[in-house]
Amino acid sequence: MTSRGSGSGWWETWPWRLVQTNLREIDMADIDAARYVAALKDLDATVAMINTSGIVASYPTELPFHTPSAFLQGDDMATIVDACHGAGIKVIARTDFSKVRRELYERHPEWASVRADGHVIEDGGDVHVCPAGAYQQECAPRIVEETITVLDVDGIYFNMAGFQTRDYRGNDHGLCHCSACETGFREMSGLALPTSRDLNDPAFRRYLVFQDRVLSASKERIDTLVRRLRPDVAIDRPSDDAGGFIRQESSTALDRTPSEWPHSASANTKWVVTSLPHTVSSNSSVDFVDYPVRHVSVSPDRQRLRLAQALANGGGLDHYVIGRLDGRADRSALAAVRELFRFHAAHEVDYRDLRSCARIALVTGRHGSSEEFRGWFRVLAEHHFLFDVLLLDRATGPVLSRYDAVILPDHEPIPDDVATAIDLFVEGGGTLVATGRTGWRDGDLEPRPAPALECLGIDEVRGVRDGTRGAYLEIDDHAGFPRLADTDLVFLDGSYVDAAYRSGAQRRLRMIPPGPFGPPERLVLPTVTGEPGLVIHRFGAGRALYLPWACGALVDRHGQTNTSRFAADVLEHHAGLEPIGGNLPAMVEVTLFERSDARVQMLHLVNGSGSGLDTRPVTMRDVEVVIPFAGAPTDVSGLVGGRALDRHATDDRLTIRVPELDVFEAIRIERA
Ligand SMILES: [Zn+2]
Repeated sequence: MTSRGSGSGWWETWPWRLVQTNLREIDMADIDAARYVAALKDLDATVAMINTSGIVASYPTELPFHTPSAFLQGDDMATIVDACHGAGIKVIARTDFSKVRRELYERHPEWASVRADGHVIEDGGDVHVCPAGAYQQECAPRIVEETITVLDVDGIYFNMAGFQTRDYRGNDHGLCHCSACETGFREMSGLALPTSRDLNDPAFRRYLVFQDRVLSASKERIDTLVRRLRPDVAIDRPSDDAGGFIRQESSTALDRTPSEWPHSASANTKWVVTSLPHTVSSNSSVDFVDYPVRHVSVSPDRQRLRLAQALANGGGLDHYVIGRLDGRADRSALAAVRELFRFHAAHEVDYRDLRSCARIALVTGRHGSSEEFRGWFRVLAEHHFLFDVLLLDRATGPVLSRYDAVILPDHEPIPDDVATAIDLFVEGGGTLVATGRTGWRDGDLEPRPAPALECLGIDEVRGVRDGTRGAYLEIDDHAGFPRLADTDLVFLDGSYVDAAYRSGAQRRLRMIPPGPFGPPERLVLPTVTGEPGLVIHRFGAGRALYLPWACGALVDRHGQTNTSRFAADVLEHHAGLEPIGGNLPAMVEVTLFERSDARVQMLHLVNGSGSGLDTRPVTMRDVEVVIPFAGAPTDVSGLVGGRALDRHATDDRLTIRVPELDVFEAIRIERA
């Protein structure tokens, strides 16, 4: 990231309620600007995202490499943008440079992505083009320039940016072998392109670095161009610190099990809000079930939950439909979207200028273990620890100083500077929880001779045992494991790191290696070994807790209380972190934000009890929540229920009673 000043754009204070109308070419044939805007106003939308450029130009382009729409008989794009502005709606131009029409490809075959077998990839007459090739490198910036100078748009979004290897049917076509990739990669690495995606292959590791360099160089070039021509335009995934917005998606998929991770919208929102100041988190609730069935909505309850999770975590609201809002075949989810958008519109002042009160950072980043991350996310959320999600490369000293504890969930690559910052954080009194192979690779994914983090107290990694199925960890001492009072065993699965630790490192739990598990007559637990399940190492004024196994991945895959209670006890009784009190069920997510003048706090309770079945959540009654709070509040109100709430302040704790919790409650706490 380069630093070109801090942000001060419109997006920083704008009440963000975005509707993306992903227009088909034919939608422009009879589009009516007034009707388009009326449909947005009906939802109380404040931002519209409209397809303008790339695969199809929805305005009269003068560029020979920009395919003009054949359906520009309705109101023109300038009229639509003007009408939006007249109604107080900002407009984001949606671009897509991932494909060109076959006719263009035939004039410039060198633009295309090429499979290892020499074939190009075509979807309905559109040919995939490569980010390293001349179309994305040279033509895309000129299309961006035309778009933002011809149209009075307020933002720009780049759809399907990056090296796309899948088509719309989900087929994976493998790594690109076009001449730009072959030449560029050979110049950078001296190597031929890798043939498989294997991190143990040095060529593949260098290839991932090559991809990063191609993408970040071209993104920086485009962002610099936009900032120069239109500094007022909000940029998607900005490469500088001036900010903009980051659009992600919470979506279902026909072949995914479960079809959507229930914490998707919270997790997507958290990392942006935590890691990127001046940048809006715009996590889209995708209206449809999957690409092949884009005309049918997912259930309204799912849409409500996603939007409530975005709000609760400090993000903007974002809803995405195919085509225009007027004339949709399936309108069943719109009432739910309208409900959440209107709630935000009624209380938008309370959502301004908020910052998270969490003192725990769960780290995420590219090439980390998503299973391990999701498992720890569940443990934190279900046991009601307040936490942020922090991008690994944003884990600098000043950022880490906001936290009591940092969790590194089996995050293999850690750059040297981040490793140093984390060691200093622990040395200065912070707490680290790390699992598995954390820090075994450097920032370029190269294997390290020894794990990066000194604070973990690992003397030597002797190896990794992959065959732990049937193994256990014996809780030989229950001190610090009150949630596991009824069991003496925690089960293992997956890999286990065999390591030697420094003297002084405290070892907890003892491994029982895999024994026979059938027939029952032969089931005898083998003798315990001295191998630990948790190692606690004092380092300077702080401590590092190391779990030499992938505890989070087990929670993500199975969610057994045996594993999740172990993890929660590690956090509460060994890392010294205090969860939110009260009688909240595991399916209620809790977040706490504070206005920068510290006079108002926003406490959200999100009811996820309907998420597994796509049903309305069970209404919970007499919910009690206890948060840290110094002094006494002057007002505590539930904004959804629209009433003052009973509360009781004592001993730096505030107890709030919520008589009824439906989809969510936003509790506004005011102090004098
Ligand atoms: Zn290529």
